[in-house]
Amino acid sequence: MKVFILFILLILPFYGKLQPYQSKAIDYEGIDLHPPMAIDLILAGNFGEMRSNHFHTGLDIKTKGVEGQKIYAIEEGYISRIRVSPWGYGNAIYIDHPNGLTSLYAHLRDFPPHVDSLFRAHHKKSESYVLDEIVLEDSFYVKKGEFIAYSGNSGSSSAPHLHFEIRETETEHALNPLLFSCYQKRIKDSTKPRVSGIKIYAVSKNGYMIPGKSKYYSCVLQGDKWVVNGNKPIDVSELVTKNSYLAFGFHVTDKLDGAGNICGVYHTELYREDKKMHEQKMEYINFDYNRFLNSHQDYYEFKKKKRNVHKNFVTVVNPLNIYPQKDGIIEWENCAGNYSYKAKDVHGNLRTVEFSLAQPSGSYAKNPLDEVGKYYFPDSINTVLHENFQLLMESGTFYEPLQKNFRIDTQSTYLSSKFEFSEYVIPVQQHFDVRIKVPTKHQKLPPYKFGIGVISDKGYLSFLGGNYVDGWVETTSRSFGTFVLLSDTIAPVIKPLDFNEGKVVSKYNNLQLQINDNLAGLKSYKAYLNGEWVLMIYNRRKKRYIIPFDQYSKPHLLKGKNNIKIVAVDRLGNKKQAEYTIVY
Ligand SMILES: [Zn+2]
Repeated sequence: MKVFILFILLILPFYGKLQPYQSKAIDYEGIDLHPPMAIDLILAGNFGEMRSNHFHTGLDIKTKGVEGQKIYAIEEGYISRIRVSPWGYGNAIYIDHPNGLTSLYAHLRDFPPHVDSLFRAHHKKSESYVLDEIVLEDSFYVKKGEFIAYSGNSGSSSAPHLHFEIRETETEHALNPLLFSCYQKRIKDSTKPRVSGIKIYAVSKNGYMIPGKSKYYSCVLQGDKWVVNGNKPIDVSELVTKNSYLAFGFHVTDKLDGAGNICGVYHTELYREDKKMHEQKMEYINFDYNRFLNSHQDYYEFKKKKRNVHKNFVTVVNPLNIYPQKDGIIEWENCAGNYSYKAKDVHGNLRTVEFSLAQPSGSYAKNPLDEVGKYYFPDSINTVLHENFQLLMESGTFYEPLQKNFRIDTQSTYLSSKFEFSEYVIPVQQHFDVRIKVPTKHQKLPPYKFGIGVISDKGYLSFLGGNYVDGWVETTSRSFGTFVLLSDTIAPVIKPLDFNEGKVVSKYNNLQLQINDNLAGLKSYKAYLNGEWVLMIYNRRKKRYIIPFDQYSKPHLLKGKNNIKIVAVDRLGNKKQAEYTIVY
C-alpha cells in the first residue's frame, strides 16, 4: 500500500498539459519528392482514418495485389532506423532527409543486396530476428529515387501493400503525405466525403457522454441533398438531462478515385448559424497521443455498429492536437436553430449537411453520472482495494465514466479467484497497476514463476507478467477484464517439422520447426549451426520458425555431420535447449 499512496501524491492533474492547436510550418507546395513507387499511386487507406486504437499515420498504397514492387527513396538522405517484426510495421526502413523530413516504408518483403547486408549485420550483432535499431547517422547514404526495397505483406498487414509515412524528423510527428502537392497531383480524387449520419449527445460539463442519452439520425438523399429528419427541426427533448449539455458527432467517411476502400476525412467544420463551433483537421499526428483516438471516436458506435462517428466535442482528458477549434458543447436552453457541417478532403471536395434543432420541451431527466459512488471518472485517480486484489489507475487511464463493476468469482481453475473488473471491450489509454495476493496454499511455489493473466470477453487469456513483492504479485495491464494469478514453470516445447536426429538435409533450402509455450509466451528464440548464430525467422501466418540455408548460413555448413542447436526462453525465464545432428 505504501507504494500506491506515494504514487498518488506525485500525480498532477492530467489535463494540465493540454496544448492549443498549432499548424506545421512546412513548405507543402515547394518540396518536391520522388514517388515511393513507379506504378500508379492508388490508395487503400489514407492519413488520419480511424483504426483500432490509433489514427492511421500514413498512406496505404496498393501494389496491384502482389508483393515485390520496387520501392524508391523519396529524397536523398541516410537510413536512420530499421525494423523487423512478425507484427506491426513488419520489415521497415526509415530515412532521414536533409530537408527535415523522415520517410518510412513498411510491410516490406525484402531488400536489394546492399540494403539487405545492413539488416543482416544488425541481426547478427543482436543475435535476434526481431529488430528495432537506430542506424548511425551517415553510415548508410541513399540517393533520391534509389531502389531500396521490395514491397511485401510483412507485419500486421492483411494484404500486399506499401505503408508509407512522412514525419517531421525533429518531433517525429506523422504528417499527412497528401498535403505535399507533389503527391496530391499524382493521386486523383474527385469524390466528396460522405456524411451518413448525425449523433446527438447529452454530455457532462467535462465532455463525458451521459449513459443512455444519445441518438443517431441517418442522413438520407433527398433530390440532390443529404437531409436529416426529413429536413424538419429535430426534437431532442428525450435527451435532455440534468447537469448536462448538448453536443454532436458525425458519421463521416471518404473515398478516393480508383478504389472502393473507405478512407478517413481530412477537415471538418461545424457551424451554428454563421458561427464556427468546432473544427477538426488531420494535418499531423503526435504519436504520444495517437491512442486518444478512443476519446475522439464514439467507440460504442464503432464496436457495435461499425460506424465511424467523429465526436465534435472533447473531454477534459483528450489532448489530441487535431482541433483548431473546440467549442462543441452547448446549453439546452438555447440549442434551437440552424446548424451546418462541412466535410472536406485534401483535394478540396466539399460536402455540406444542414440540419436544425427545435427547442426541447418537458422536464429534465435524472443524470446517472450524478449518482454518488456509481462511476469511476477518467479525470481522477481510481483504485480498487480488496484484501486479495488491488488496482490503481492514474488520471487519464480511460476515456469515459466507468460503471463500478467489480466481481469476484471464487470458482476458478487458476491459482487465485477470478477478479472481474469492467469489460475487456472498453478501451484503455495507459497501463495501470494490478496486484493479486498469493493464496496461502500456493505460497510455497517459486516466487519468480508467478504472473498475472487477463481473460477477454471471448475467453482468450493474455499473460501480463508479474513481480512477487511481500506475498503479492504485481504487474501492469492496458486492458480490463478478468484478472487471475498464474504460475508457469514449464519450458517451451521445440518440435522440428522437416528434420530430426541424423536427417540428410543436402537438398533442403531451410529447416522448419515449431516452438510452443504453454502460458507466458516466448521471450527469445535462437539457432546455432555448429556453434555459430544463424538467423531463425518467425513466420506468423504459418506459425513456424524457419532457418534459411542462404549465403549467410551456408558458410557454417560442413560436408557430412552438423550440429544444430535451438534455444527458446519464455517470459518467466523457463528455458529449453534442443540439439540435433543433421547431415549435409
Ligand atoms: Zn498502413
